[in-house]
Amino acid sequence: MHACSEDGERMDETIQPEIKREAATWLSAARGFVLDMDGVLYRGNQLIPEVPEFLNSLRRAGIPFAMATNNSTLSPAQYVQKLGGMGIDVDEHTIVTSGVATAAYLKSRFPKGTRAYVVGMAALREAVFGDGYFEPATRGVDVVISGADFELVYESLKIACLCLRAGAAYVATNADVTYPSEEGLIPGSGTIVAALRACTGVEPVVVGKPGAVLTLSAIEILGTEPAQTVMLGDRLDTDILSGQAAGTRTVLVLTGVSDRAEIEQTGIRPDLVVNTLAELTVFYDSVPVHGRAGA
Ligand SMILES: [Mg+2]
Repeated sequence: MHACSEDGERMDETIQPEIKREAATWLSAARGFVLDMDGVLYRGNQLIPEVPEFLNSLRRAGIPFAMATNNSTLSPAQYVQKLGGMGIDVDEHTIVTSGVATAAYLKSRFPKGTRAYVVGMAALREAVFGDGYFEPATRGVDVVISGADFELVYESLKIACLCLRAGAAYVATNADVTYPSEEGLIPGSGTIVAALRACTGVEPVVVGKPGAVLTLSAIEILGTEPAQTVMLGDRLDTDILSGQAAGTRTVLVLTGVSDRAEIEQTGIRPDLVVNTLAELTVFYDSVPVHGRAGA
């Protein structure tokens, strides 16, 4: 119905038929967005040009958004700085890294004072140990946590290996084998998982996308129901699968890793595909949206 409003003619010109036909109803009813960051908001350190207007259109529509990233090498505060440097202002509490989601997951399953060992960077150690809930240890460890570590040393793998062999539980921030850098694809968290699996045979619980835990953490911040939340990402094999696992609507934006051919190859079908976020900006500026003042 919304798509057939008096704005219909403008929409005919600017909104792709897909949005009008199939997605208009649930996009209009969306109470919140979970946004992936790399490939959606920026590429490397380069802001994607359609982003500021898109975020403004969500704000005008009264739709809150949170960011969810598999990357555990930066803290939410560091992401606020990174985004701020691109002219995007967001609240720190709306950013969920896999490190933050991992710490929340661990607290829900282990009592205060649990001895933990982290293979990862400062941001992950801060997420796990920052509030004193877990006790850092290298022996008698109850849980090993691993994430991407760009300063990885043998000693870390050795300690984690011995702890896991002694029966510690294993939780990984995410299982992405590679990580996109300006030099190309470099070893990511999944490579460290592979190393520890090789020497222990232990499979970790994985918190990040494509599982649901990270995305559900972001949905908790929004205070929305998954069915009224939209997961927006650039990767079918992480973002879209994670949204589907969490029970959200899913939108693939083609400004990052996945393309239309990959949908056919993988059979992973997002609810909607947009070339750029400008298509969603036009949509939200054109239709009455739940929660928008005066709509
Ligand atoms: Mg991405």
